[in-house]
Amino acid sequence: MHEMSIAQSILDIILQESGNHKVTRVLSVALKVGELSAVETESLRFCFEFLTKGTAAEGAQLDIERVQVTCRCQDCASDFTVKELTFSCPSCGSGKLEMLSGRELSVESFEAE
Ligand SMILES: [Zn+2]
Repeated sequence: MHEMSIAQSILDIILQESGNHKVTRVLSVALKVGELSAVETESLRFCFEFLTKGTAAEGAQLDIERVQVTCRCQDCASDFTVKELTFSCPSCGSGKLEMLSGRELSVESFEAE
């Protein structure tokens, strides 16, 4: 499952960082998830809960921030947020776009004690 491997890599990052900082318990984890990363947040929560059992991150809250898809037009250089999945520039109609955000999936920070 897609979300299971993502949850695993999130946990790996947290446990590695925790090891460096002598953490006994992870309280919450802040994630950024792009709208185009195709991650089902409920499913990710479920997998994370499952994987963290018996680790320092057991019971940690996942704070998931969804990141909108933004693009830059290669022809007129305007930046815009993609609302519906129509990939053309709202200023000049060009289809030559560079994606600036929307695919990310990263651990922003986490709280621990
Ligand atoms: Zn344009």
